[in-house]
Amino acid sequence: MGKIRVLSDLVASQVAAGEVVERPASVIKELMENSLDAGAKSLEIEVRGAGSLLLRVTDDGAGMDREDALLSLERHATSKIASAADLTTVRSMGFRGEALPSIASVAEFVLRTRRASAPAGTEVVVKGGKIVAVREAGCAPGTTVEVKSLFFNLPARRKFLRSAATEAAHLDRAVETVALAFPGVAVHYRRDGRTVHRLPAATSLVARVTDLYGADERVALLEMPEGENRGIRVSGLVSRPGATRADRGRQFFFVNGRAVENVFLSTGLREAYRQMLEPGRYPSLFVHIAMDPQAVDCNVHPAKREVRFRQGGEVRDALRSAVEAALRQARADWLQPVRAHLAARAELPAGHLPEAKPLRLAHQPELPRPVRPESPLAPGAPIAEAATPRVRPEEFRLVGALSRRYLLLEGGEGLVLLDQRAAHQRILFERLQRGVAGGGVAAQRLLAPAVFELPGREHEAVAENLAVLAAAGFGVEVFGGRALKVEALPDFLAGRDPQRVLEDFAAACVLGGAARLRGPAAGEAVRRAVARLAVDEGGAKDEREQRALVTQLLACELPYCDPDGRPVMLQFSWRELDRKFGRD
Ligand code: ADP
Ligand code: MG
Repeated sequence: MGKIRVLSDLVASQVAAGEVVERPASVIKELMENSLDAGAKSLEIEVRGAGSLLLRVTDDGAGMDREDALLSLERHATSKIASAADLTTVRSMGFRGEALPSIASVAEFVLRTRRASAPAGTEVVVKGGKIVAVREAGCAPGTTVEVKSLFFNLPARRKFLRSAATEAAHLDRAVETVALAFPGVAVHYRRDGRTVHRLPAATSLVARVTDLYGADERVALLEMPEGENRGIRVSGLVSRPGATRADRGRQFFFVNGRAVENVFLSTGLREAYRQMLEPGRYPSLFVHIAMDPQAVDCNVHPAKREVRFRQGGEVRDALRSAVEAALRQARADWLQPVRAHLAARAELPAGHLPEAKPLRLAHQPELPRPVRPESPLAPGAPIAEAATPRVRPEEFRLVGALSRRYLLLEGGEGLVLLDQRAAHQRILFERLQRGVAGGGVAAQRLLAPAVFELPGREHEAVAENLAVLAAAGFGVEVFGGRALKVEALPDFLAGRDPQRVLEDFAAACVLGGAARLRGPAAGEAVRRAVARLAVDEGGAKDEREQRALVTQLLACELPYCDPDGRPVMLQFSWRELDRKFGRD
C-alpha cells in the first residue's frame, strides 16, 4: 500500500502557518498588510501578553461581504491575483491567500467586517481552523481581525516563543515597519492597554520618522536627494556620519512599499559609508526604492521578507550613489562656512575650495546661540568664523588642551571636544589620498638605503602594495627573497627608523587585511595603516601647533571621523549642557 496521502486542509493550513506565522509579530504583519491592501487609511493595533493573549487589527478599508468573508478563510483564496502571470506585476502586499486560513488554524480567531455600502456586517468565529459561528454584526465599515490564544492547539510552537520582552520587541518592529512604509496611514498602536504610538497620517517620510522616533533622530538624519537611475528611484533618509547606533534597529529598506532584506542593499549601504563607520556602529536608514515590479521577485520567502532582484548590481549602485550624494551634500554644507572663512584669510590654497553653495539650514535643529565673550574659558582668538546667512556669526574658539589628548573648542552651537590623535590621522590620511591622486607625496631620501628582511606574510604585505607605497612617498623595492630595500620615506616620517616603519606598516596591513585586498580598497587600507603609523602620539606641543591642527582638520573632506570611522569631534550643544546642569 502506498504511503503518500493528501493532507487535510486543516493540517495543510497548520503546516503553512509554521512558515507564515513564525511568531505573534508575523500575525500582526499579515493583518496590517491585508488592511493596507484593502485601502485602509487608519489602523488600530492592539496587543496583549506580547501577542499570545490578544492580537487585533482594525481598519477602515473596503471590508468584505458575507460571501467573501467566508471565502477569505479558505486556503489559496485571494482577491489579489488570478493567475501565475499576475505574480510578476503584483503590487499588493499579499497574494498567496494563505495568511488568514493559516492564522485561523492555530488560534481563536474572529473576523468582523462590513462594506461601507452594506447595512450590516458579518462576524465569523473560527477556532483551530473550524468555523464555529457566522452571524450578522453591527460594526463600522472596514474590518477587524482578532486573534486570541495563538498556538493554543500547537503546544510545541507555543514553547518556541521567546521571552515576552523579545516578542514585544518584534511586535514593535512590525508596527514601525508598516508605519514607515506607509507614512500616509494613521497608526494607533496599543500594547497591554498603553498607547505605544499614536501616529497621525503624515504627508512625508520625514514627518513620520519624527513622530515615531522624535526630533533628536530627525536631526541626526540626512535627506537623500531624489534621483532615478535606470528606472530605479531611491529616496529617504540616512544617518549623518557620526550619528550612528550600536544596532541595526533603525535600518529599513522598502522596495515598492514592502520591507525587505537583500544582500545587494546591505552591500550598497556599506560601500557608501565605507570609511565613515566604526566597526560595530550602524547608521539609521529609512530607504524607499521604487522600481519596475517585474524586476523584483517577492515570492522567494514564506513571509516575503527577502526579495530577489533581476539586476542586483544596478540596485546596489543606485542605492550607493543616493547615499553618497546625501553624505556629500552634508559635507559641503558643513564645510562651506569654515572654508569661506579660511579662504578669506588665505590660509588654504585656492585649489581646496569647493565652489560656493548657499548653506542649507533645513537640518538645523535650533539657531546657534552667540558665543559668550564674557566666558572666562574663551581667551583664544577665533579660529574660524562662518560666513553664513545666519543672524549671528559662528566661531570656533580654541579654549585649550586636556591632558594632551583632547582639544577643547567653543563653537557657536556649544562645546566641541577634539581628539588630537584622530584628527592627526584624518589629516595624514587625506594628505596621502591627495598625494596619490596628484602624483605623489613629498619624499625624503635616506642618507644610506636600508636593506633588511621581513617574515613571509609581512614581506608579502609590502610587496603587494609597492605601487600604493610609492605614491605615498615610500621608496621601497623588493631586494630578492625576503629582503626589502628602502631608499626614501614620506616627509612626515622623516627621521624614523625605516625598518621599524616598514615592520609596523606590514603588521598593520596583515591585521587590516590589506595584503589580501585589491584595487582601491587596498590603497585605502594602506593609507589607513600609514596614517596610523605616522600619527604623533604626543599631541600638539603648543598653542601654535594646536591651532595648526584645527585649521588643517577643518580643511579636510571628512573632518568628523578618522580613517577608521571613529569620531574626531564630539559636540555638546548649549541646550544639552544647560539641561545637564538643570538650567532649563
Ligand atoms: P492574501 O493577502 O495573500 O490575498 P490573505 O489570507 O491574507 O491572503 O487574505 C485573503 C483575502 O481576504 C484577501 O485577498 C482579501 O480579499 C481578503 N481580506 C483579508 N483581510 C482583509 C481586510 N482587512 N479587508 C478587506 N479584505 C480582506
Ligand atoms: Mg494577506
